[in-house]
Amino acid sequence: MSDPEDSIGMACAAAETTEASVQALSSQWAVYTPQEAATVAAALFEGLQQNADALAALRRAMGRMIERGETELTPPASPGQPENLANALDRLLQVTGRIYDLVSANASTTVHALHAASTSAPIGADAHDTLSAVADLLKDQCPGSVIFNERHGADEYDPSSDHGFGCGCDISIAVDGEEYIVSHGDSEWTVFKMSDGRKGSDGTTVWDNWGKLSTSLDTAHPQQLADDVLGIVTP
Ligand SMILES: [Zn+2]
Repeated sequence: MSDPEDSIGMACAAAETTEASVQALSSQWAVYTPQEAATVAAALFEGLQQNADALAALRRAMGRMIERGETELTPPASPGQPENLANALDRLLQVTGRIYDLVSANASTTVHALHAASTSAPIGADAHDTLSAVADLLKDQCPGSVIFNERHGADEYDPSSDHGFGCGCDISIAVDGEEYIVSHGDSEWTVFKMSDGRKGSDGTTVWDNWGKLSTSLDTAHPQQLADDVLGIVTP
C-alpha cells in the first residue's frame, strides 16, 4: 500500500463498507437484543476512531507534500475570503481532535450501558425452539389452521449435529384452500406451497420453487419468521 491509487481505493472501499452497515442496520430486524447493539456500537466507535486516525494521517501526508515544495502553503484566508490549503489543514486537525474527544467521552459508557440493558426478546436456543415459537405465533396471527408437527422426542434432537437441516419438525398451515409447510432445511427457513409440488419419478414430491425467509439464523427472532411466513401465505 504505497501509492495514491491505493490510498484513494482504500478510503472509498471503507466508505462503501460503512454505507453497507447503514443499510444492514436500517432493516426492521437489524438487532434483536441490546447486547447485539452493544457489539455494533463498539465496532462503530472503533470505526470512528480509525477514521480520525486516517484524517490525521492524511494531514501528515499533506505535510510531506509541502516539504517537497510541491504545493504552496500560504497564510490562512482572512474572513470572507475563500478558504485555502492552510484552512483545510487546520480543519483536518480540528475534526480529528473532535472525533478523538467524542469517542473517548462516549464510547465506553455507551457500550457498557447497552450491554447492561435488559432484554425480553424470545430468542430460542436452537432450530426446534425457534420453530415451536413461530408455530405459537402463527396460531394467534394466521387466519388459517396451523399445526406444529413434532417429529422427534424431547431428547432426540442435537442442534450441534443438524448440519443446517433443522430438527425435522415442521409447521403445516391451511389457509384460503392452500396448504403450506414451514421448516428449516439446507441452512435456510423455507415455506413450501403444496400445490407447487410435483410428483417425481420415484413417487416423492419435489418443488422447483419455494419461499425463502429473510434470515437463515437457527435462532432467528420468531416474530421475524412469522412476519415472513404471513407475507407468503396471506399476501
Ligand atoms: Zn423439532
